[in-house]
Amino acid sequence: MADRLAGVRLAPYTTLRMGGPAGAFVEARSESEIVETVAEADRDGEPVLILGGGSNLVVSDEGFDGLVVRAASTGVEITGDGRVTVQAGEDWDALVARCVAEELAGVECLSGIPGLVGSTPIQNVGAYGQDVSQTITGVRVYDRMTGEIADLTAAQCGFAYRHSAFKEDPGRHVVLAVTYALTRSGLSGPIAYKELAARLGVKIGDRVPLDQAREAVLALRRGKGMVLDPLDPDTRSAGSFFTNPVLDAAAAADLELRAPGYPRWDMPDGAVKVPAAWLIENAGFPKGYEKGRVRISTKHTLALTNPTGEAGAAELMALAREVRDGVREKFGVTLVNEPVMVGIALDR
Ligand SMILES: Cc1cc2nc3c(=O)[nH]c(=O)nc-3n(C[C@H](O)[C@H](O)[C@H](O)COP(=O)(O)OP(=O)(O)OC[C@H]3O[C@@H](n4cnc5c(N)ncnc54)[C@H](O)[C@@H]3O)c2cc1C
Repeated sequence: MADRLAGVRLAPYTTLRMGGPAGAFVEARSESEIVETVAEADRDGEPVLILGGGSNLVVSDEGFDGLVVRAASTGVEITGDGRVTVQAGEDWDALVARCVAEELAGVECLSGIPGLVGSTPIQNVGAYGQDVSQTITGVRVYDRMTGEIADLTAAQCGFAYRHSAFKEDPGRHVVLAVTYALTRSGLSGPIAYKELAARLGVKIGDRVPLDQAREAVLALRRGKGMVLDPLDPDTRSAGSFFTNPVLDAAAAADLELRAPGYPRWDMPDGAVKVPAAWLIENAGFPKGYEKGRVRISTKHTLALTNPTGEAGAAELMALAREVRDGVREKFGVTLVNEPVMVGIALDR
């Protein structure tokens, strides 16, 4: 059984550099260590937080009064037909780099996203026209409700935009491994994102060599402070803090009255997705907007940052509420946070 450490501060384990101490902290280095550690805590009635790379977490300044289990299991298996099965604790971007090098297509546009493999199904990680629901065929989990290990199909994962069945039932499933069905090809999937196509100098739907797709995505992301870099204070964030709101027809019509001609993506089911960044900027919160020691990234309106690493989560939430309230007042749209909150909430 892995060692239990007491009093470990969580801030260094999160990309926002925020979060007080854990009641206890365990680094679990294999599937069996993860399962045994979580099962024992559940038997003892001890609250559990599974920690990956801490890049999608806002942890309160009071910390987490329970057991934090860092999923640190390793192992990658690649079959001849391009199926890649990866243990939860593997670094996501290192996996993408390897897939690109080994001419396995399907995740190249997800280059540069921080965090670990086990977290990718939780919010159906996505960027630049790809998301993991396009390639995941199975997720191996420990189900804390039944106490069993289960191999879930993609359909059972209930993937949607930045959402999955795992988010519906938070904490129930511990992801142990993920299988992605990739295509053996030196060319990317059809480029589906306008900004990426423009950077590559190709048309939507064209394919490009995998390494070119990866380099173009990394360059675009760096320009927005979206690749972790200790030298870039704009990357001390949890990525996009707000999701792009999806409005039904009535809400979309209401927004049209308040903001005629607002930018929108029409969804196949009649709903309308609106860029949260546009709403935030047009509600009076430009890039670099500061509140004490926290600020909106100077490169990307959706990222709230802790540039010096010294601010607390309470300060960040005050800025988040100010932005959410300003957007609601101007546009009647309520923004929702993307990162997972621990011991803290946007709604008080
Ligand atoms: C600079 C930056 C850029 C980003 N860009 C993007 C982007 O382009 N697209 C995107 O989708 N996201 C993006 N993100 C968000 C983040 O990187 C992803 O959500 C990532 O998948 C989180 O992984 P993690 O290992 O850091 O998860 P953590 O932050 O450690 O955890 C996130 C949640 O998943 C749970 N969890 C973690 N591991 C497991 C497991 N094995 N089993 C069960 N639950 C688990 C945690 O309990 C928590 O609820 C970005 C973040 C940053 C900081």
